[in-house]
Amino acid sequence: MMVEYAYMLMICVSISANSKQSAANKTVFVFLGEYSMNFDVIIIGAGPGGIFSAYELVQRKPQLKVAVFEAGHALHKRNCPIDGEKIKECVHCKSCSIMSGFGGAGAFSDGKYNITNDFGGTLHEYIGKKRALDLMQYIDGINLKYGGEGTKLYSTAGTKFKTLCIQNDLHLLDASVRHLGTDVNYVVLENVYAYLKDKVQFFFDTPVQKVGIVDGGYQVVCGDDVYQSKYCIVSVGRSGSKWMEKICRDLDIKTKSNRVDIGVRVELPANVFAHLTDELYESKIVYRTQKYGDKVRTFCMNPKGAVVVENTNGIITANGHSYSDPAKQTENTNFALLVAQHFSEPFKDSNGYGESIARLSNMLGGGVIVQRFGDLIRGRRSNPHRIKQAFITPTLSATPGDLSLVLPKRILDGIIDMIYALDKVAPGTANEDTLLYGVEVKFYNMEVEVDQNLESKHKNLYIIGDGSGITHSLSHASASGVHVARNIAEKQ
Ligand SMILES: Cc1cc2nc3c(=O)[nH]c(=O)nc-3n(C[C@H](O)[C@H](O)[C@H](O)COP(=O)(O)OP(=O)(O)OC[C@H]3O[C@@H](n4cnc5c(N)ncnc54)[C@H](O)[C@@H]3O)c2cc1C
Repeated sequence: MMVEYAYMLMICVSISANSKQSAANKTVFVFLGEYSMNFDVIIIGAGPGGIFSAYELVQRKPQLKVAVFEAGHALHKRNCPIDGEKIKECVHCKSCSIMSGFGGAGAFSDGKYNITNDFGGTLHEYIGKKRALDLMQYIDGINLKYGGEGTKLYSTAGTKFKTLCIQNDLHLLDASVRHLGTDVNYVVLENVYAYLKDKVQFFFDTPVQKVGIVDGGYQVVCGDDVYQSKYCIVSVGRSGSKWMEKICRDLDIKTKSNRVDIGVRVELPANVFAHLTDELYESKIVYRTQKYGDKVRTFCMNPKGAVVVENTNGIITANGHSYSDPAKQTENTNFALLVAQHFSEPFKDSNGYGESIARLSNMLGGGVIVQRFGDLIRGRRSNPHRIKQAFITPTLSATPGDLSLVLPKRILDGIIDMIYALDKVAPGTANEDTLLYGVEVKFYNMEVEVDQNLESKHKNLYIIGDGSGITHSLSHASASGVHVARNIAEKQ
C-alpha cells in the first residue's frame, strides 16, 4: 500500500529483440518520464463504470490506494459552450464537456437507469442474469442515497400497452426505469464526488496515452508522467473507443465489431406520447420491417425534453435529454428511431460505416439536419420557412434539409414504416409536422475479449463499461464497475 514518488524514473522492461518477435527477449532500461507514483488500482475514465469501480473499492477495501485518470474536466468545470443564442453550433472543444469529464457521457444525460437485461448491454451474458440485475438494483440504491430519493421508478410490469403494441405488430420490452432527470443526475454525481474525493485520487484533464505491462502490474503514461499499479480498470466509454482499439492492438487483446444503429431523433408534441410516457416514462418498442426484416426500435425517450447535439470524435449527431424540474421542461417529447445494421465478414468497420453517414449529414447541414415528416414523405427538403410554419417549435436549432440525401433507402424505409406503426399506438406520430433530426447513430464499441470477471487475457487488467463493447447504458456500465471492484476485493 506504499505510495512511491520518483523523479527522472528509469525502469526495467522486457522488449522483443527484433521485429520478427524472436523468442529471445532482451531487457532494457527505458526512460519513462519525469514523475511516477504507485497505486494499488488505477482506473482509466471517470464515467459511471469508473466511478462505481472506485466507489465499490472504497466500500470493500478502503485501505487500497486508488487513482482515477480522466481525460475531461472535473464536474463543476464541465460546460458546453452551445447556449442556443451566441453559440448555436458545436465549436469542437478540445475536451467535449458533453462526453468527457467526471460523470462521463452520462453527466448531462436524462439519467434514465434501466434495470433490465433486455437492453442496455449484454453484461448478463458474462456475469449471469441474476447477478446483473442485482448489481443494477444495488446501483439504484446508491443513486437514491446520494440525492435521487423521491425520483420515480417506472415499470412495464402489468402494463396494458404490451397488448396494444402486440396488436399492432410492435413489441414493448420489459424494464424498470429509474428516471433521475438531468438535474437530479447531476446532484447525485456531485454528492458521489464529494464522498470519493478524499478517498480516491482524481487526475482530471489527464488523458492516458498508453497502458503497458510491467513486472507485477501495469503502467499508464500521461504526457511526461508515468504511474503504476497492480490492478488496472479501463473504462473509457464511447469517447475512448478509438484509443481502446489501439490499446487492444498494443496489448494483443482480441476484439470484434459488427454492429451499428443508424436513424433519426423524432420530436413531437408531448401529448402525442403522454399516455405512454406518463405510465412508463421510457418505452422501448421494437418493430421488424416487412421488406428487409430489419429491427427498428425506439431509443432514449425524453418526455418534455430537448434535442441536443452529440460530438463523438468530431462527428456531430443528434441526441436528447430532459429535466425532471418542471420549470426546465419543454412542450415536446423526443426519442430516437434506430435501425440495427449487422455486417458479416469481410466487412469489419461497422462504426466507420455509421460515421460516413453522419459525416454526410455534417457535410450537407454543417451538423444535424432537421426535416418535417410531411416533407420527407413528399420527397422535398424542409427549409427554414416550412419549419417555422410547423405547429411544433424545434428545441434544437438544426439545419433544415433533406434526410433522404443522407440516409440509405433501407434505413429510411424502416424509419418511415415504424413511424406509421407507432401512429397506431400513439396517434399523431405520423403527423406532417413531426420533426426528424438526423442523423442519430448509436456506435457500438468493438467488443473486447474478456472473461466472466471482465478481466482480459492479462491478469488484473479489466475492461468495463461502454469501452468494452459489453455495456451501452448507465446502469450496465455502473454495474460492470461494481462487478470488477468486487473481484479485485476478493483477490486481496
Ligand atoms: C447525451 C447522452 C444521453 C444519454 N442518456 C442516457 C440515459 O438516459 N440512460 C442510459 O442508460 N444511458 C444514456 N446515455 C449513455 C450513457 O451515458 C453511457 O452508456 C454511459 O455513460 C457509459 O458509461 P462508461 O463509464 O462506460 O463510459 P463514459 O460515460 O463514456 O465515460 C468514459 C470516460 O472516460 C474518459 N476517457 C476516455 N478516454 C480516456 C483516456 N484515454 N484517458 C482518460 N480518460 C479517458 C472520457 O473522458 C469519459 O469521461 C447517454 C449518452 C449521451 C451522450
